[in-house]
Amino acid sequence: MRITVNIRHLEEHGLSLKGKALTEEIELESRDELIQFHEEVTFDLEAQMVDGAVLVQGSLSVGLRCECCRCLKTFESEVRILDWAAHLPLSGEEAVAAENDCVDLTPFIREDIFLALPQHPLCSGDCKGLLRESGRRKEESDDSGTGMAGSSAWADLDKLNL
Ligand SMILES: [Zn+2]
Repeated sequence: MRITVNIRHLEEHGLSLKGKALTEEIELESRDELIQFHEEVTFDLEAQMVDGAVLVQGSLSVGLRCECCRCLKTFESEVRILDWAAHLPLSGEEAVAAENDCVDLTPFIREDIFLALPQHPLCSGDCKGLLRESGRRKEESDDSGTGMAGSSAWADLDKLNL
């Protein structure tokens, strides 16, 4: 089921659209291998006709299964857009296509959900990532090595002065 509004009905009165749509049916498929969508998108929308355009406002949400980009742990998350709005003119250059008096909201919903996805999913804001104990120890030994090289450089300078 795609999410559509009937313009003829909308000319008479506002419409409310509530329900769930299968992510598969609205072709919501993640392009990010760290993010998978849950099965359903929940929508709660109000549509009305304003000056020859369809105005839709409301909320959208969909569950996500993410993989943390730092520690690779799988965790549950969600995209929730509480103040979603679309302004769709029915005439003019940017007019939306209407088929059998229906305007398909699906592509606009899909696009805005994609825009709301996390760019770099993190299991928590302060995720330390994979432990790198060996790396830290290596840095320390490098530091002491530099110190020794420094002192020998000074020793060389002393020799030059003589
Ligand atoms: Zn993490």
